Amino acid sequence: MLTEADANSNTKVIRSNVAIVGAGPAGIVLALELAKSGIDVVLIESGNPKFSERIQALSDAGEIDLARHAPMADCTRRQLGGASVIWGGRCVPFDPVDFDDRPYVPHSRWPIEYCEIAGYFQRASEYFFCGRAEFDVEDAAGVERRPIVPGLPNGDVISTSLERWSLPTDFGREYGSALNHSSNIRLLCGITCTEVECSADGHSVTGIRGRALDGGTIRILADQCVLACGGLETTRLLFCSDRRHPGGLGNHSGQLGRFYMGHVSGEIARARFSTDPRHTAYGFDRDQDGVYVRRRFSFARSFLHRFQLANCTCYPVNPKIHDPAHGNGVLSFAYLALSSTILGKRLASDAIRKAAIGKREAVSDWQHWRNVLFDCPRALAFAATFGFRRFVKWRKIPGFYQFSAENCYPLHYNCEHLPNPESRVQVGRDVDEMGMRKLRVDLRYGQTDYENVIEAHRHLDEYLRSHGCGALEYLTDDPVGHVKAQASHGFHQCGTTRMSSNPVDGVVDPNCRVHGLENLYVASSSVFVTSGQAGPTFMIVAFALRLADHLKRVQMNGRRIIKKSTVASSQSSSSALA
Ligand SMILES: Cc1cc2nc3c(=O)[nH]c(=O)nc-3n(C[C@H](O)[C@H](O)[C@H](O)COP(=O)(O)OP(=O)(O)OC[C@H]3O[C@@H](n4cnc5c(N)ncnc54)[C@H](O)[C@@H]3O)c2cc1C
Repeated sequence: MLTEADANSNTKVIRSNVAIVGAGPAGIVLALELAKSGIDVVLIESGNPKFSERIQALSDAGEIDLARHAPMADCTRRQLGGASVIWGGRCVPFDPVDFDDRPYVPHSRWPIEYCEIAGYFQRASEYFFCGRAEFDVEDAAGVERRPIVPGLPNGDVISTSLERWSLPTDFGREYGSALNHSSNIRLLCGITCTEVECSADGHSVTGIRGRALDGGTIRILADQCVLACGGLETTRLLFCSDRRHPGGLGNHSGQLGRFYMGHVSGEIARARFSTDPRHTAYGFDRDQDGVYVRRRFSFARSFLHRFQLANCTCYPVNPKIHDPAHGNGVLSFAYLALSSTILGKRLASDAIRKAAIGKREAVSDWQHWRNVLFDCPRALAFAATFGFRRFVKWRKIPGFYQFSAENCYPLHYNCEHLPNPESRVQVGRDVDEMGMRKLRVDLRYGQTDYENVIEAHRHLDEYLRSHGCGALEYLTDDPVGHVKAQASHGFHQCGTTRMSSNPVDGVVDPNCRVHGLENLYVASSSVFVTSGQAGPTFMIVAFALRLADHLKRVQMNGRRIIKKSTVASSQSSSSALA
C-alpha cells in the first residue's frame, strides 16, 4: 500500500526505501541516482513548481544581522529546484589544497582525501550541463591556451584556471519531468518536513513527518532518510527534531550549527596591466561544447602552504555599473535594464540584481541615460546581441565584460571564509506558520579572514610587477577596513553540520551519516569542513553522487527494495495527503 491511515489520526503513511527531504540540486540528483538503481524513493519538497510567497516565508529567520547576511528571501528558495531557480550558475570544484593538512588553518582538516570526491566531478558536470570537468585552459578542449595577461607564466600565481558555467541550470525545470516519470520516485511537493522521527532507543530514525500549509500531515517511513534542505534548513530541521535527542539530532557534541561559513568577497583593488590591452583575456571564452568559461587568478598549492594563506581567487570585472562616472553606454544600459522592475526581474534574480545595481536611491538615472545617448550605437548593439544570448538561447550567456582600452580592470576576490566555531546558527523561540522554530543566524568573520585577502592581493601585485605585466592599484587607503565592510554572505551556506571522523568534532561521518544515528544522512554544503574559494553547488552535487553510491551499497546489503509495481501511482503534489 502506498498510503494508509495512521492508526490514531488522519495522517497518511507512506513507506519507501529512502526518504529525501528537499528537492534542490542535492535532493534531485540523489533521487535520480537511487531511482536508476531500482531503489524506491520518496522526495518531499516544501515548495511547489510555482513560487509562493507564503511558502517562502517559512524560511524567514527569527534573528539575522542584515549587515553580514543576505535576507533569507534572497538567499534561499522554497520551490522545486531550490536555490538553483535563482542562482548564478557558476560551477567550480574545490582544490586539492582544501583537503590538505593545514595546521595554520584551525579546524580545517577534512576526514576524506580530495581523490575520494574528485572522481565524481565528471558526472557532476553532466548534471549541470557545464561540459567536461576540465578546469584549466591547459586541459580544456576548445579553449585558447593563454593566460589572462600575455607573458605572465604560471608559477606561484596561476592565471589559467577556469570557472565553468551551467545553463544556468534550474534543477526543478531540467529534471522535473524525469522525477515525475520515474517509476521509482514519488515526488511530493508542497509538503514541509517538520520533524525527523527517532526510534525509541534513539539510535536510528524511523522516518519523517511532513505537513502541508492546509494542515494535512504525512509520515514517511523509510530505511534511510536524507536531509537535503540546503545549508541552513537542514541544520534547522535537525535542531527542531529534538524529541529524543535534547538539543537536536546530531548535536551530541554541541557542534550542530557551528562553523557557519560563506565566502569573503568584494573588491579592494584594480589591476593595471602593462601589456597589449587587446590581448588581455578578461571575459568569457567558450569551450568546444559551447560552455562559457572564464579565467581567474589563483595561487599554487605549494605557495599557499609556504605563505600559510587561505585559498583565494581574483578575476577582472567591469567597473561598478551603478556609478555613471564610468561614462560607458553599455554599462549604463545594463544598469537601467536591471533596475527596471519588469525587465530586471527577467534578467536576474533579486539578489544578483541588488548586487549589481547597488543602492538605487544613491544614483540619478539621467546620468545613465546621458551615457547611453552618447554611446547609442554600442548600447543598441549590446542590447540586441546580449538580449538574444540571454533570453532566446538555451545556454544563456552568464554576463558580459567590457574591454578596457586603458587595460585597467577592477578585481573581484573570492576568498575562503575560515572555519570558526563562534560563527553559527541556532534556533530561537519564534516559530513559523508550521510551528517550527526559526533560525538565529550569526555569521561571523575574523581578522585573519580580512588579512588573507590583503595578503593575496599583495602577492598578486608582486607577481605582476616581477614579470613586468602590471600592478595593482588599491581603491582605498584602508584595504582591511574595506574588506571588513564588504564581508557579508549567506548565498553559500557551508559548515553547520560539519564532517568529522570523530563524533566529538562534528555532526556527520565521512559518509555523510549523522554520527550516532544508523540511517540518517545529510546531502548539503552544510557538511563541508572548509569553504574553499569555490561556490558550493558543484561540490554539493559531487557529494550527492558519492552519497548515492554509498546508499546503493547499503540498500544492496540485504535490505528489501520496495517495488513501485506493488504500490500505488506516483504523487506529485500535496494531493498525496487528500
Ligand atoms: C542568488 C544566488 C546565486 C548563487 N549563485 C551560485 C553560483 O553561481 N555558484 C554556486 O556554486 N552556488 C551559487 N549559489 C548557491 C546555490 O544556489 C546553492 O548552493 C544550491 O542551490 C544548494 O543546493 P541544495 O540542494 O543543497 O539546497 P537548496 O537549493 O537550498 O534546496 C533545498 C530545498 O529544500 C527545500 N526545503 C527546505 N526545508 C525543507 C523542509 N523542512 N521540508 C521540505 N523541503 C524543504 C527547499 O524548498 C529547497 O527546494 C547561489 C545562491 C543564490 C541564492
